[in-house]
Amino acid sequence: MKYIDAHTHLNLSEFSDDIDAIAEKTKNDDVIVVNVGTGRGTSQIAIELAEQYDHMFAIVGLHPIYAAPSYVNEASEDFDYDFYHNLIEKDIHNNIVGIGECGLDYFHGDANAKQKQKDAFHLQIRLAIDTNLPLMLHIRPSENTYDAYDDVLDILKEYKIKNPNLVGDVHFFAGTTKIAQEFLDLGFYISFTGVITFAKIYEELVAFVPIDRILSETDAPYVAPVPFRGRRNEPSHVREVVKKIAEIKGLDENDIAEQIMQNAKKLYRL
Ligand SMILES: [Zn+2]
Repeated sequence: MKYIDAHTHLNLSEFSDDIDAIAEKTKNDDVIVVNVGTGRGTSQIAIELAEQYDHMFAIVGLHPIYAAPSYVNEASEDFDYDFYHNLIEKDIHNNIVGIGECGLDYFHGDANAKQKQKDAFHLQIRLAIDTNLPLMLHIRPSENTYDAYDDVLDILKEYKIKNPNLVGDVHFFAGTTKIAQEFLDLGFYISFTGVITFAKIYEELVAFVPIDRILSETDAPYVAPVPFRGRRNEPSHVREVVKKIAEIKGLDENDIAEQIMQNAKKLYRL
Protein backbone atom coordinates (compact mmCIF):
# COMPACT_ATOMS: atom_id res chain seq x y z
CA MET A 1 0.00 0.00 0.00
CA LYS A 2 1.27 3.45 -0.90
CA TYR A 3 -0.83 5.88 1.18
CA ILE A 4 -2.12 5.97 4.72
CA ASP A 5 -5.12 7.86 6.01
CA ALA A 6 -3.98 7.98 9.63
CA HIS A 7 -7.23 9.40 11.00
CA THR A 8 -10.59 8.88 9.36
CA HIS A 9 -14.16 7.86 10.18
CA LEU A 10 -15.63 5.24 7.84
CA ASN A 11 -17.25 4.06 11.09
CA LEU A 12 -19.69 7.01 11.06
CA SER A 13 -23.24 6.88 9.69
CA GLU A 14 -22.27 9.07 6.69
CA PHE A 15 -20.72 5.92 5.19
CA SER A 16 -23.20 3.25 6.29
CA ASP A 17 -25.01 3.15 2.93
CA ASP A 18 -21.95 2.57 0.73
CA ILE A 19 -19.23 1.24 3.02
CA ASP A 20 -18.48 -1.78 0.79
CA ALA A 21 -17.96 0.42 -2.27
CA ILE A 22 -15.76 2.87 -0.31
CA ALA A 23 -13.74 -0.03 1.13
CA GLU A 24 -13.16 -1.41 -2.36
CA LYS A 25 -12.22 2.03 -3.69
CA THR A 26 -9.70 2.76 -0.92
CA LYS A 27 -8.09 -0.62 -1.53
CA ASN A 28 -7.84 0.02 -5.28
CA ASP A 29 -6.41 3.48 -4.55
CA ASP A 30 -3.69 1.91 -2.38
CA VAL A 31 -4.80 3.55 0.87
CA ILE A 32 -4.48 2.05 4.36
CA VAL A 33 -7.38 3.29 6.47
CA VAL A 34 -7.30 3.95 10.23
CA ASN A 35 -10.85 4.42 11.50
CA VAL A 36 -11.04 6.36 14.74
CA GLY A 37 -13.71 5.85 17.40
CA THR A 38 -15.61 8.71 19.00
CA GLY A 39 -17.43 6.63 21.63
CA ARG A 40 -18.42 3.04 22.42
CA GLY A 41 -20.60 2.47 19.34
CA THR A 42 -18.25 3.94 16.73
CA SER A 43 -15.24 2.23 18.35
CA GLN A 44 -16.97 -1.10 17.94
CA ILE A 45 -17.80 -0.39 14.29
CA ALA A 46 -14.15 0.58 13.68
CA ILE A 47 -13.09 -2.83 15.01
CA GLU A 48 -15.69 -4.64 12.88
CA LEU A 49 -14.40 -2.85 9.76
CA ALA A 50 -10.81 -3.79 10.62
CA GLU A 51 -11.86 -7.41 11.06
CA GLN A 52 -13.62 -7.35 7.70
CA TYR A 53 -10.99 -5.53 5.61
CA ASP A 54 -7.25 -6.26 5.60
CA HIS A 55 -6.32 -2.66 4.75
CA MET A 56 -8.20 -1.18 7.71
CA PHE A 57 -7.26 -0.67 11.36
CA ALA A 58 -9.10 0.72 14.38
CA ILE A 59 -8.48 3.26 17.12
CA VAL A 60 -10.86 3.05 20.09
CA GLY A 61 -11.87 5.71 22.59
CA LEU A 62 -14.07 8.65 23.53
CA HIS A 63 -13.98 12.01 21.73
CA PRO A 64 -13.91 14.95 24.17
CA ILE A 65 -17.10 16.46 22.76
CA TYR A 66 -18.90 13.25 23.71
CA ALA A 67 -17.40 13.20 27.21
CA ALA A 68 -19.82 15.92 28.34
CA PRO A 69 -23.15 17.31 27.12
CA SER A 70 -22.81 20.38 24.89
CA TYR A 71 -24.71 22.26 22.21
CA VAL A 72 -23.38 19.90 19.55
CA ASN A 73 -24.29 16.88 21.56
CA GLU A 74 -27.00 16.42 24.15
CA ALA A 75 -26.12 12.84 24.97
CA SER A 76 -22.73 12.00 26.42
CA GLU A 77 -20.99 9.04 27.99
CA ASP A 78 -18.48 8.55 30.78
CA PHE A 79 -15.29 6.86 29.68
CA ASP A 80 -15.71 3.18 30.53
CA TYR A 81 -12.16 1.93 31.08
CA ASP A 82 -13.16 -1.73 31.44
CA PHE A 83 -15.24 -1.69 28.25
CA TYR A 84 -12.30 -0.45 26.15
CA HIS A 85 -9.73 -2.55 27.96
CA ASN A 86 -11.85 -5.59 27.21
CA LEU A 87 -12.02 -4.70 23.48
CA ILE A 88 -8.23 -4.57 23.37
CA GLU A 89 -7.83 -7.80 25.31
CA LYS A 90 -10.08 -9.61 22.82
CA ASP A 91 -8.19 -8.14 19.85
CA ILE A 92 -5.96 -11.12 19.06
CA HIS A 93 -5.27 -9.99 15.47
CA ASN A 94 -3.97 -6.56 16.52
CA ASN A 95 -6.62 -4.64 14.61
CA ILE A 96 -6.62 -1.97 17.32
CA VAL A 97 -3.63 0.36 16.85
CA GLY A 98 -4.37 3.25 19.22
CA ILE A 99 -6.52 4.97 21.85
CA GLY A 100 -8.75 7.92 20.96
CA GLU A 101 -9.70 10.19 19.67
CA CYS A 102 -9.17 11.74 23.04
CA GLY A 103 -8.03 15.09 24.38
CA LEU A 104 -9.56 18.48 25.11
CA ASP A 105 -12.04 20.49 23.05
CA TYR A 106 -12.48 23.91 24.67
CA PHE A 107 -14.21 25.26 21.57
CA HIS A 108 -17.25 23.19 22.55
CA GLY A 109 -17.12 23.12 26.34
CA ASP A 110 -18.05 25.14 29.43
CA ALA A 111 -16.17 24.77 32.76
CA ASN A 112 -18.12 21.69 33.75
CA ALA A 113 -17.54 20.06 30.36
CA LYS A 114 -13.82 20.84 30.56
CA GLN A 115 -13.52 18.89 33.80
CA LYS A 116 -15.40 15.92 32.36
CA GLN A 117 -13.19 16.02 29.26
CA LYS A 118 -10.09 16.01 31.46
CA ASP A 119 -11.37 13.05 33.48
CA ALA A 120 -11.98 11.06 30.28
CA PHE A 121 -8.58 12.10 28.91
CA HIS A 122 -6.67 10.95 32.01
CA LEU A 123 -8.38 7.56 31.88
CA GLN A 124 -7.52 7.16 28.20
CA ILE A 125 -3.88 8.03 28.83
CA ARG A 126 -3.92 5.38 31.58
CA LEU A 127 -5.36 2.87 29.09
CA ALA A 128 -2.72 3.75 26.49
CA ILE A 129 0.00 3.17 29.07
CA ASP A 130 -1.54 -0.08 30.34
CA THR A 131 -1.98 -1.52 26.82
CA ASN A 132 1.16 0.03 25.32
CA LEU A 133 -0.81 1.68 22.49
CA PRO A 134 -0.30 5.21 21.11
CA LEU A 135 -2.75 8.07 21.73
CA MET A 136 -4.78 9.75 18.97
CA LEU A 137 -5.17 13.32 20.19
CA HIS A 138 -8.00 15.74 19.39
CA ILE A 139 -7.14 19.23 20.64
CA ARG A 140 -9.23 22.31 19.94
CA PRO A 141 -8.66 25.54 21.89
CA SER A 142 -11.21 28.24 22.61
CA GLU A 143 -11.31 31.02 20.03
CA ASN A 144 -8.14 33.08 19.55
CA THR A 145 -6.20 31.10 22.17
CA TYR A 146 -4.04 27.98 22.44
CA ASP A 147 -5.41 27.05 25.89
CA ALA A 148 -6.30 23.43 25.12
CA TYR A 149 -2.83 22.78 23.63
CA ASP A 150 -1.20 24.17 26.78
CA ASP A 151 -3.34 21.99 29.06
CA VAL A 152 -2.75 18.83 27.00
CA LEU A 153 1.01 19.47 27.02
CA ASP A 154 1.01 19.96 30.80
CA ILE A 155 -0.86 16.69 31.30
CA LEU A 156 1.34 14.70 28.89
CA LYS A 157 4.59 16.04 30.35
CA GLU A 158 3.50 14.80 33.77
CA TYR A 159 2.79 11.27 32.46
CA LYS A 160 5.96 11.16 30.36
CA ILE A 161 8.17 11.34 33.47
CA LYS A 162 7.16 7.87 34.61
CA ASN A 163 6.07 6.52 31.20
CA PRO A 164 8.70 7.46 28.61
CA ASN A 165 7.15 5.09 26.03
CA LEU A 166 3.91 7.06 25.89
CA VAL A 167 3.55 8.38 22.31
CA GLY A 168 0.84 9.35 19.87
CA ASP A 169 -0.33 11.58 17.08
CA VAL A 170 -1.70 15.12 17.30
CA HIS A 171 -4.57 14.94 14.82
CA PHE A 172 -5.59 18.00 12.72
CA PHE A 173 -2.77 20.05 14.17
CA ALA A 174 -3.52 23.79 14.17
CA GLY A 175 -1.17 25.18 16.81
CA THR A 176 2.01 27.21 16.43
CA THR A 177 5.48 25.99 15.49
CA LYS A 178 6.46 26.45 19.13
CA ILE A 179 3.64 24.15 20.27
CA ALA A 180 4.53 21.67 17.50
CA GLN A 181 8.09 21.59 18.80
CA GLU A 182 6.86 20.74 22.31
CA PHE A 183 4.90 17.75 20.98
CA LEU A 184 7.90 16.67 18.89
CA ASP A 185 10.08 16.87 22.00
CA LEU A 186 7.63 14.51 23.73
CA GLY A 187 8.08 12.02 20.85
CA PHE A 188 4.66 12.67 19.31
CA TYR A 189 3.80 12.71 15.59
CA ILE A 190 1.79 15.48 13.93
CA SER A 191 -0.84 14.92 11.26
CA PHE A 192 -2.44 17.24 8.74
CA THR A 193 -5.78 17.07 6.91
CA GLY A 194 -7.03 18.37 3.55
CA VAL A 195 -7.31 21.83 5.13
CA ILE A 196 -3.66 22.36 4.11
CA THR A 197 -4.73 22.32 0.45
CA PHE A 198 -6.77 25.52 0.82
CA ALA A 199 -5.68 27.34 4.02
CA LYS A 200 -2.37 29.12 3.54
CA ILE A 201 -1.77 29.48 7.30
CA TYR A 202 -0.70 25.81 7.43
CA GLU A 203 2.28 26.22 5.11
CA GLU A 204 4.67 27.34 7.84
CA LEU A 205 3.60 24.46 10.08
CA VAL A 206 3.90 21.79 7.39
CA ALA A 207 7.31 23.15 6.43
CA PHE A 208 8.34 23.08 10.10
CA VAL A 209 7.43 19.48 11.07
CA PRO A 210 10.30 17.09 10.15
CA ILE A 211 9.42 14.49 7.50
CA ASP A 212 10.06 11.59 9.87
CA ARG A 213 7.38 12.87 12.29
CA ILE A 214 4.58 13.85 9.92
CA LEU A 215 1.41 11.88 9.09
CA SER A 216 -1.33 12.31 6.47
CA GLU A 217 -5.02 12.09 7.27
CA THR A 218 -8.41 13.07 5.85
CA ASP A 219 -10.68 13.18 8.95
CA ALA A 220 -13.39 12.05 6.49
CA PRO A 221 -16.29 12.68 6.16
CA TYR A 222 -15.15 16.20 7.16
CA VAL A 223 -12.85 18.79 5.48
CA ALA A 224 -12.53 17.53 1.91
CA PRO A 225 -9.39 18.86 0.19
CA VAL A 226 -9.20 20.82 -3.06
CA PRO A 227 -10.56 19.80 -5.63
CA PHE A 228 -13.31 17.99 -3.69
CA ARG A 229 -14.40 20.78 -1.33
CA GLY A 230 -18.02 20.91 -0.22
CA ARG A 231 -18.50 17.20 -0.80
CA ARG A 232 -18.29 14.25 1.57
CA ASN A 233 -14.62 13.55 2.15
CA GLU A 234 -13.20 10.03 1.83
CA PRO A 235 -9.87 8.29 2.58
CA SER A 236 -8.80 8.15 -1.09
CA HIS A 237 -8.45 11.94 -1.01
CA VAL A 238 -5.47 11.57 1.35
CA ARG A 239 -3.41 11.61 -1.82
CA GLU A 240 -4.15 15.35 -2.16
CA VAL A 241 -2.80 15.89 1.37
CA VAL A 242 0.40 13.98 0.59
CA LYS A 243 0.79 15.91 -2.66
CA LYS A 244 0.48 19.23 -0.79
CA ILE A 245 2.98 18.18 1.89
CA ALA A 246 5.44 17.25 -0.88
CA GLU A 247 4.83 20.59 -2.63
CA ILE A 248 5.38 22.65 0.54
CA LYS A 249 8.51 20.72 1.44
CA GLY A 250 9.80 20.78 -2.15
CA LEU A 251 10.21 17.00 -2.19
CA ASP A 252 9.07 14.20 -4.48
CA GLU A 253 5.51 13.01 -3.81
CA ASN A 254 6.46 9.33 -3.96
CA ASP A 255 9.31 9.81 -1.49
CA ILE A 256 7.02 11.65 0.94
CA ALA A 257 4.33 8.96 0.60
CA GLU A 258 6.92 6.30 1.42
CA GLN A 259 8.29 8.26 4.39
CA ILE A 260 4.78 8.85 5.80
CA MET A 261 3.99 5.14 5.49
CA GLN A 262 7.16 4.33 7.44
CA ASN A 263 6.21 6.87 10.11
CA ALA A 264 2.72 5.37 10.46
CA LYS A 265 4.07 1.83 10.61
CA LYS A 266 6.43 2.85 13.36
CA LEU A 267 3.80 4.67 15.41
CA TYR A 268 0.98 2.14 14.97
CA ARG A 269 3.33 -0.87 14.81
CA LEU A 270 1.63 -2.13 11.63
ZN1 LIG B 1 -11.71 12.71 13.84
